[in-house]
Amino acid sequence: GQWGGAERPRLSVVGTGYLGATHAAAMAEMGFDVIGVDTDPAKVKQLSEGKVPFFEPGLPELIRTHVASGRLRFTTDLAEATANSDIHFICVGTPQQRGSNAANLDYVEEATRQVARYLTHDGLIVGKSTVPVGTGARLRSIIADAAPLDVAVELVWNPEFLREGKAVEDTLRPDRIVLGGVSPRSEAALRQVYAIPIESGTPVIVCDLPTAELVKVSANAFLATKISFINAIAEVCDSAGADVAVLADALGHDVRIGRQFLNAGLGFGGGCLPKDIRALIHRSSELGATKAAALLQQVDEINMSQRLQVIGLAIDACGGSVLNRRIGILGAAFKPLTDDVRDSPALNVAAALHLRGAQVVVYDPEATETAQRMFPTLTYVDSVDEAATGSDALLVLTEWDEFTASDPVALGALVGRRVMIDARNCLPAATWRAAGWSFSGLGAASSK
Ligand code: NAD
Repeated sequence: GQWGGAERPRLSVVGTGYLGATHAAAMAEMGFDVIGVDTDPAKVKQLSEGKVPFFEPGLPELIRTHVASGRLRFTTDLAEATANSDIHFICVGTPQQRGSNAANLDYVEEATRQVARYLTHDGLIVGKSTVPVGTGARLRSIIADAAPLDVAVELVWNPEFLREGKAVEDTLRPDRIVLGGVSPRSEAALRQVYAIPIESGTPVIVCDLPTAELVKVSANAFLATKISFINAIAEVCDSAGADVAVLADALGHDVRIGRQFLNAGLGFGGGCLPKDIRALIHRSSELGATKAAALLQQVDEINMSQRLQVIGLAIDACGGSVLNRRIGILGAAFKPLTDDVRDSPALNVAAALHLRGAQVVVYDPEATETAQRMFPTLTYVDSVDEAATGSDALLVLTEWDEFTASDPVALGALVGRRVMIDARNCLPAATWRAAGWSFSGLGAASSK
């Protein structure tokens, strides 16, 4: 076995989506030989040519550099990758199950079983995917059944906290490194893998397997709670004539609170927060821990109601019905700096208005292709101007810089009616009003 000793371990990364492609590239950047494995041949082909099949700032450069240097390669052949590496990172998806709040663990179980089966020498399997607490324990028994008898194998959990849009930075310089369920040998091996961030001061938390699994979901549950908290307060602001943005700034100066994730608006979405809090609702209920389930149920409900509120604002702005009204939508991605439209609040609102008979015209700087795949019936255009032209209402649903920088005077000349719904509270309301726009935000007294 080549891990936990003096030799530099060779790494495989199983699943090369947002998490795995970034992790593989970052590990190559840290000096390791890395093989990325995915079941999707199109993804593997693109990555092998140094291309990234999704938008993530800084990642294409890193992939190109290390594919060219030979330190990083990609394959669909898991058996070959497993035989030629020592530490195996599991980075496959854990989406929400159809018809349930629970996480779908089929991919994680299958990938882990396969790696175990293909081991030709001692292996360390490192789970990075976000999983319900208790998954690691079950995977250990799957591994015990599948692995050859003559190899030593360990499973540990090392959850990943990267943010899409800042994934490269977050992987090279993480806030913390959590190592769950490690032995002295596997702890040493992972300290060697993460030597660069550890030497520059990244804290390492060594804990048991269930704690490591729960750290990740709790972090996402807390962030989701923060967003729904401020959206609940925004509703009070709306009724009381207070300004939630000013309020959030004032709250944020308290270091115990912090300013981040206190932007009132359309709420959270994406491939992580919604499915992670739902999986925690499901798992904590299974465990009889009712408090977390009750709290997060409210967080989810408040979050989903933000979408209805924005749909309502658009209907009101069009005089009670959006039928045959032209609605310009700015933003399809679930947040800026990504092309990810999984559970995107922006696309959800766009599709809902479309279903109510509006002519919906969507512009997003990066997410048009992914959005088109998910909602092919909407109309997509290539610029803010095209989305605005002739519109009865213009909605900002993702806070891209390009939108916050747009000129209300110039856009005012293109639209049919100067109606702006700023569902991310990201535009300067006074400037827009001064340019003759009817302007509404969420929880913003400034919108009066
Ligand atoms: P993704 O869908 O972009 O990528 C998953 C990849 O795994 C896909 O390319 C798929 O083809 C591949 N795959 C599935 N089964 C496989 C198998 N048996 N062998 C090899 N490849 C297989 O998902 P993602 O966003 O990268 O998320 C992956 C995991 O990481 C999830 O658990 C997620 O919750 C977690 N996570 C994601 C982020 C994020 O910001 N995206 C951050 C932290 C953690």
